[in-house]
Amino acid sequence: MTITLAGLNGKAVDIPADVLQAFKAVFNGPVLGPEDPGFDDTRKIWNAMIDRRPGLIARCTGTADVVQAVRFVRQHGLLSSVRGGGHNIAGLAVCTGGLMIDMSLLRGVWVDPARRVAQAQAGCTLGDVDRETQVHGLAAVLGFVSATGIAGLTVGGGFGYLTRSHGWTCDNVLSMEVVNADAQVLRVSETENADLFWALRGGGGNFGIVTSFEYRLVPVGPEIVGGAIAWRGEDARQVLDAFREFSATAPRELTSVAVLRMAPPAPWLPKEVHGKPIIALFLCHSGKVEEAEALIAPLRKLGRPVADIVTRRPYAQMQSLLDATQPKGRRYYWKSHYLAGIEGRTIELVAEHAGRIRSPFSAILLFQIQGALNERPAGYSPAGNRDAAYVLNIAGSWENDADDAANVGWARDCFEATRACSTGGTYLNFLTEEEGRDRIEAAYSPADLNKLAALKRKYDPDNVFRHTKNITA
Ligand SMILES: Cc1cc2nc3c(=O)[nH]c(=O)nc-3n(C[C@H](O)[C@H](O)[C@H](O)COP(=O)(O)OP(=O)(O)OC[C@H]3O[C@@H](n4cnc5c(N)ncnc54)[C@H](O)[C@@H]3O)c2cc1C
Repeated sequence: MTITLAGLNGKAVDIPADVLQAFKAVFNGPVLGPEDPGFDDTRKIWNAMIDRRPGLIARCTGTADVVQAVRFVRQHGLLSSVRGGGHNIAGLAVCTGGLMIDMSLLRGVWVDPARRVAQAQAGCTLGDVDRETQVHGLAAVLGFVSATGIAGLTVGGGFGYLTRSHGWTCDNVLSMEVVNADAQVLRVSETENADLFWALRGGGGNFGIVTSFEYRLVPVGPEIVGGAIAWRGEDARQVLDAFREFSATAPRELTSVAVLRMAPPAPWLPKEVHGKPIIALFLCHSGKVEEAEALIAPLRKLGRPVADIVTRRPYAQMQSLLDATQPKGRRYYWKSHYLAGIEGRTIELVAEHAGRIRSPFSAILLFQIQGALNERPAGYSPAGNRDAAYVLNIAGSWENDADDAANVGWARDCFEATRACSTGGTYLNFLTEEEGRDRIEAAYSPADLNKLAALKRKYDPDNVFRHTKNITA
């Protein structure tokens, strides 16, 4: 039977049964149509606000499958999308009616402890990489929630508890294997296809499909000191003030994240605060455990904390401490800014808008990222934003579509109110579905954006990889 798929330029493309059969014959992994078992599970992603249906899903089992998928896309002029961990808030992993090239079966990780490098396939989650590297007391610079995909995170920048010491995730990539828009397999590094290597370190999914990443590893743990301290919401201004002072002077091994939300019914929080506003500081000290206690002591003396679970724990456990707050299948809407510092008015606005949260799951987060990333030269990687010290993330999260308008409205209000506190820059990976050209421009310096556009012309002149935060000339 002929199937119809979405074409690159909005036109429907008929694929006769024998052509589809020929594709399936050269493709090793499952090729799923809408009627096949597993189709729905694979097309559904973390953010339930995105409910798109591709026409076909090609589940890659290796680089050869990615090559075949790109050839198929090129040959028939198809719209396609690339799925890594499926965590992109804008739902870039899923296109309507086209071919979803699904990388999520590719989850191998190989660690070379002597060279302190890890090779990770592009379908890995952060947890997959932490699990293997921590066997050797090593870690890659990754993000805060273990189910997030390494691929989208790395090609769009990437920050986490190790960023203060080592920069963006993409600043710590040594090489990648890439399938380009001509279905050629390329190795990219400082010495091979260096311009494409540069573009892939922050330029998003615009330049090719990465099949594996080689990460520089750093010694961490396996035991670190970390966890969270929580206070009642009424103490938010005082705690944010202390967070500003504390984070400005804390050594780079110590990263803190302020979270303002309603207390979830988590066992570490006393029952009397459940459902009430709280502020929590998540802390991770990735240096010598003996030094951590003294550094964290002043925070423990601040006001009257309602909970304190900062303790010695495995680094891999720290890396999944926030997981339960971000389940797949809720409705999510984010807005974000980079901040050069935390001013008095930022504290006031954050506390005020936290007080207006509309859902038990929404939060305002302030991630400290200041440190190594500020020291790299401008243009080192397009993730750039080397003036950023904090990420302000206004994270709406709720369950029913009837509540969409209220929660989206809350996030937008807070975003507009805090706009004046921003560097003007933003994080590509936190952009929502409707954030277009002006926000993509805000994610890069003008020089880097021009360079990215020129590289797009060089490596993907037909804009095959357009189901991205698209950079065009
Ligand atoms: C709960 C949660 C926590 C997060 N925490 C952090 C964090 O701590 N730090 C941080 O920096 N970011 C964080 N993010 C943002 C995250 O970096 C982005 O959502 C990122 O896009 C996720 O990557 P993914 O592979 O899961 O995405 P997907 O949705 O699978 O893919 C997103 C896009 O990435 C590109 N892409 C995917 N795979 C490939 C590939 N193999 N080759 C080329 N391009 C590809 C494509 O353009 C694709 O459309 C978080 C997101 C969520 C939802």
